[in-house]
Amino acid sequence: MVNDSLEITTICDDVGHSKFTIESGSSEIERPACGTPIYQHRSLPRIKILGTGGTIASKGTDSSQTAGYHVDLTIEELLDCIPDISSVCELEYEQLCNVDSKDLNEELLFKIYKGVTDSLQTFDGIVITHGTDTLSETAFFIESSVDTGELPIVFVGSMRPSTSVSADGPMNLYQAILIAANPKSRGRGVLVSLNDQISAGYYITKTNANSLDSFNVRQGYLGNFVNNEVHYYYPPVKPQGCHKFKLKLAPGATTLKFPPVCILYGHQAMSPDLIDLVVDHYDGIVIATMGAGSLPNEVNQKLLSLNKPVIYSKRSMDGMIPTANLPKPLAGTSNIIASGYLNPEKSRILLQLALAENYCMEETRRVFRGVYGG
Ligand code: ASP
Repeated sequence: MVNDSLEITTICDDVGHSKFTIESGSSEIERPACGTPIYQHRSLPRIKILGTGGTIASKGTDSSQTAGYHVDLTIEELLDCIPDISSVCELEYEQLCNVDSKDLNEELLFKIYKGVTDSLQTFDGIVITHGTDTLSETAFFIESSVDTGELPIVFVGSMRPSTSVSADGPMNLYQAILIAANPKSRGRGVLVSLNDQISAGYYITKTNANSLDSFNVRQGYLGNFVNNEVHYYYPPVKPQGCHKFKLKLAPGATTLKFPPVCILYGHQAMSPDLIDLVVDHYDGIVIATMGAGSLPNEVNQKLLSLNKPVIYSKRSMDGMIPTANLPKPLAGTSNIIASGYLNPEKSRILLQLALAENYCMEETRRVFRGVYGG
C-alpha cells in the first residue's frame, strides 16, 4: 500500500481486509527533525491454532447422526467452515494429533504442552481444539505447567460432529479465535469457549454428556458472547492458589512419563480389598469419596496404612473436601490429603505433577492447600 508520504508493508496475504492503525493520524504524519517521515504500524494479533481432534473434528454418516461418529476432519478443514476473520487476526495452524480425547496420554499431553510453549513468544493468543470429554483435564494441566503471562490460551470443543444439523463446532471455534485475539482476554490464563460462554480452564467441568450446554463451572463464568462481541464480567484474573510446575524430562527422554496415579470411586459397601488390588501398581491414589470425604471406616484405616499419598476428592459434582473431614491417624503424620475444590480427575493430575517433582507429603499437601484442601 503506497501513497505520497506513507508506505506500509505487510506479511498478510489479504491486504484488502487487513487493518492498520497509524497512531499519529494518517494526514498529520509526525516528522523528525531530519525530515524523514515516520509512521507506526500495528499489525493484527497473531493467533496460533493447535488441532488435537475431538467431536469438533468429527464426521458422521448423515446430518442426523449425533452419536457413533469418528474423528475425520483436519484443523485446516475445520478452519474452512468459519467466517472470514482476516480483518481480525492473522492465523497459523498446526495439527498436533487428531484423536478422540479419551485417547490422550502423556505423550500427546507433552505435544500440546510443547505446541503451547513453542508459540508463547511469537503469538498473541493460542486456540486449542480438543474433545470435550477430557478437555478440562488438559486445560488444568496446561494452566498448572505453563507460565502463560498475559497470553490467552483458549480451549474449544463441540458437542455435535461437523456433519450434523446445527453443528456447534464452527461457531465455538470462531468465538474461541475472537476471544484469543481480544486484548481484554489478556492476563486471564487458560480459558474455555463453549456454547457462547467463556470460563476458566482451571475449574471447568463437563457436566452433561450430551447437551450443547455441556460445561459448567460453579466458580463462575468469566464472560459471554452476544452477537459475537466478547463480554467479560470481571477484569483479568488468574485462578487463586494455582501451583505452577516446571516440567522436566528425564535424562535422555523425549516425552513425559508421570508417576502413575489411579482414581477409585466410593460407594455403599465399598471394600478395603479394592485398595489391595491397586496399591502396588500406583504411586498415589485419588478417591471420589461420598459427600465431603466420607468412606467406610475400614477403607479409611486401610488408606491410612499406606506409605503413599491418598487424595480425598468427591463424587459430587460441586462442593469441596474440607480438611476437617479427613480421617486422622492414631499416631504420626497422615498420608491423606483433601482435594479442596478439585474434582478427582484434576486431583489426579495435580498429584502426578507433585510426584514428578518428588515433592514430599507436606509439600504435596501445601500444593492442595492452594485450592482450600491439604
Ligand atoms: N468423544 C469426544 C471427545 O473427543 C467428545 C467430544 O469431543 O465432545 O472427547
